[in-house]
Amino acid sequence: MAPPKNEQFFQEQLAKKRWEFWCSLPERLLDLSNEVSRLLEEDDRRDRLQNIYMLLHRMVGSAGTLGQLPLSDEARQFEQKVKALLNDGKTLQHANLDWLKPMSSRLSAVIVEPDGKRVDVVAARVPVEGQKSLIGVLESAPSEFASLERQLSPFNYRLQHFEHPLSAVSAGTVEGPQLVLINLSSFYDDACQRQALEAFCQRLEEQRIQVLFLAEEDRFDFRVFAAKKMAVGLFVKPLSVPKLTARIDQALARLSAPPERVMVVDDDDALAEHYKLVLEGAGMTVKVLRQADRIMDELTQFRPELVLMDLHMPEYSGTDLAAVIRQYDQWESLPIVYLSSETDMAEQIRAMRFGADDFLCKPVLDAQLVAAVHARIERARRLADQITKDSLTGLLRHASIKEHVAQEASRAMRDGQPLSVAMIDIDFFKSVNDTYGHPGGDLVISSLATLLKQRVRASDIVGRYGGEEFVVVLPNCDRQFAETILDNIRKLFARIDFDSAGKTFHCTFSAGIGVLDPSLGEKEEDLIAAADAALYRAKNSGRDRVM
Ligand code: GH3
Ligand code: MG
Ligand code: MG
Repeated sequence: MAPPKNEQFFQEQLAKKRWEFWCSLPERLLDLSNEVSRLLEEDDRRDRLQNIYMLLHRMVGSAGTLGQLPLSDEARQFEQKVKALLNDGKTLQHANLDWLKPMSSRLSAVIVEPDGKRVDVVAARVPVEGQKSLIGVLESAPSEFASLERQLSPFNYRLQHFEHPLSAVSAGTVEGPQLVLINLSSFYDDACQRQALEAFCQRLEEQRIQVLFLAEEDRFDFRVFAAKKMAVGLFVKPLSVPKLTARIDQALARLSAPPERVMVVDDDDALAEHYKLVLEGAGMTVKVLRQADRIMDELTQFRPELVLMDLHMPEYSGTDLAAVIRQYDQWESLPIVYLSSETDMAEQIRAMRFGADDFLCKPVLDAQLVAAVHARIERARRLADQITKDSLTGLLRHASIKEHVAQEASRAMRDGQPLSVAMIDIDFFKSVNDTYGHPGGDLVISSLATLLKQRVRASDIVGRYGGEEFVVVLPNCDRQFAETILDNIRKLFARIDFDSAGKTFHCTFSAGIGVLDPSLGEKEEDLIAAADAALYRAKNSGRDRVM
């Protein structure tokens, strides 16, 4: 006998929740294992341990309710050991904590699929702030790996070497790489190796780990292979390191992009809830509008990046609401996608006239809905970036970075916190252009941008101030700290190998630091002028230095 409709709906919801929880497990386990690693590196262990305890405690509860009983049991044992340690406060500093890591890794081994089947755990894919991104490298020649490691050393990566696809397949750990570089030439032409490579690629795809191919020569079959594997790129040796790192960072940035924000407007509650579940399942943040006449307030509060709008509703139609939204300047470019069972072409055209960006016909497939929303938002984000960001480097443009300096200056004044601004200028850049051409110069500019983005804190702001001039805004940072950060970057930059027409060259930069003194009531211009003056001194004292 089929279960009654309500019961069935309930079961479906439950299954969805279990599924969502299962999907979130790699990230939860990664959080935990990061906390454990940090704990082992730090002196102040009590807070960390408390965090670990909380993470475990939550996991015991949610795993127990959401179909992961073995995980819940394992986490409970772990939790109890941590609790005992916390209660034994005196010995914490000298306690033997060797068991923490194996215990945290064990959790991943007991995860079951939502339908009960045992699975190997999935590698985590979320880059952690302040940590180096882990990049896997599948390369049969140790010397080639060593060379790659040296070339990438100025950048913020940790490389994990696999010599053979099979060893890579079996090495799936919780702290797996977020991206894997594969030297196609090492494996492609040997039938046996090729098969192992296929298996490895399949595994990467299942775990949604991105792949980027390297090759010794540019072959069309390599290109097709890379296309089929939906690789983020294929780079032929000799590698252009700046281009490679820019591509790697682009791919990693996609992973850490904030969740997409969608507002759903539909008078059918069950349907609205369904869309919400589907979109949330794809990692988006969703708000359902309950009262049409509150739409403007809700927009201001929730700040959606897209509105999914039903066309026919009893009180106000979708076109009415869209037209109201478009009356406000700040929402003029908010994407609106209509969802309706309407098949009447004239009605659709009318809807389009009221500022709609797209039209999906009900019933819409879940995957289609996710894809449509995702594509729209990605495009809207790219357009917004184009307005504020520089196309060569992806950094903030001159005007935006100045605004940020002003904002941070007033915040620093208010909070009585220090603020540093660094002005950076590449040394003898004209001769780089003269010797290696404008594209050569552009490569130097974009790799300095990549390096700066990687090497400052997430709260710092980086902008391209002019041609080969950059500004870094460092809130909450005094002169000494700013000098240390910038000087590290200076040394790393000098180590980058730039290749042009078979010749390798190196570049340096000079930097000047301006520091805001909250007691003087300075303005953003003073700060930039101070940094500029310091830069001028650095240039005159021989360049390749921070002053
Ligand atoms: P110094 O050490 O004194 O800074 O010497 P410099 O040669 O770097 O002198 P300057 O800073 O005045 O040179 C800036 C040069 O940068 C001039 C311009 O041709 C070049 N430039 C500006 N924007 C770009 C760009 O987007 N791409 C490239 N390739 N070159 C640029
Ligand atoms: Mg200059
Ligand atoms: Mg210069």
